[in-house]
Amino acid sequence: MEINLFKLCSGLRVLGYFMILLVAGIIGISYYAVVFLTCGPQLLRGGFHSFLSFAIVIIFHVLLILLLWSYFRVVFKDPGSVPENWRAVSAEENLGVGSSLAAVDDGFERRSRGGYCIHCQNGKPPRCHHCSVCQRCVLKMDHHCVWVVNCVGARNYKFFLLFLLYTFLETTMDTVVLLPSFINFFADAKNHSSTPSNLALVFLAFVLNLAFALSLLCFLVMHASLLSSNTTSVEVHEKKGTVRWKYDLGRKMNFEQVFGTKKSLWFFPLFSQDDLHNIPALGGLDFPTRSDVEA
Ligand SMILES: [Zn+2]
Ligand SMILES: [Zn+2]
Repeated sequence: MEINLFKLCSGLRVLGYFMILLVAGIIGISYYAVVFLTCGPQLLRGGFHSFLSFAIVIIFHVLLILLLWSYFRVVFKDPGSVPENWRAVSAEENLGVGSSLAAVDDGFERRSRGGYCIHCQNGKPPRCHHCSVCQRCVLKMDHHCVWVVNCVGARNYKFFLLFLLYTFLETTMDTVVLLPSFINFFADAKNHSSTPSNLALVFLAFVLNLAFALSLLCFLVMHASLLSSNTTSVEVHEKKGTVRWKYDLGRKMNFEQVFGTKKSLWFFPLFSQDDLHNIPALGGLDFPTRSDVEA
């Protein structure tokens, strides 16, 4: 049974590479429909329409660069792996953060507290989880994302959120830009004013962008709520029933735990050296709790 499950997970990995092609395909179709078919002819008309189309083309390219940059950073950045033979610093500290390792000896206790991974046969830092697709433990694992063929964890969560944000903005803009063409679709089809393949392409681009914009909006709202309470998708169930989540440091600090403190880098998939050095959560091995902050 377990072997089948692993085969299924490896299958998901293969599917991931197909997803990259799918992302490239959707971008290609949107690019052609928005830039060449919709804005291109308007640019040549002059006047206000020309100015508006020029602005749309510029914004389209800026968002495209930002979303591709964030995308490749999520795909290629290691979300964080556990160092070999990792052990918590001290038993006392472990008891404090509630993920005991050295303090307990029997296997059951270890597993129930999430301090040891039986698959990796290695210690498990707080907020770390084993991913059955990657077949390894991932630091502050959020989820395994088939769209980016990678796990989303401590070191690439910011890049993932930026990818969500820029893709949402891009697809929303595409939907608005393609809406008039979509409304005219049936009239154009009757009058034969455009080639059937171009009409089909605009139709497809509109439907795809609308579908993505709506589903990304749901994801964005969900992750904004997780970000504001310093919770991962995995921890949502763990958190249920607790009065106040132990990693909830207040909205501003929760945000900085993922995005860093340097405001000029908040909108780019980058971190300053100072932040990487001063914010342990970005490394994924150590996380301040509410009691640390309030103390
Ligand atoms: Zn593991
Ligand atoms: Zn994974």
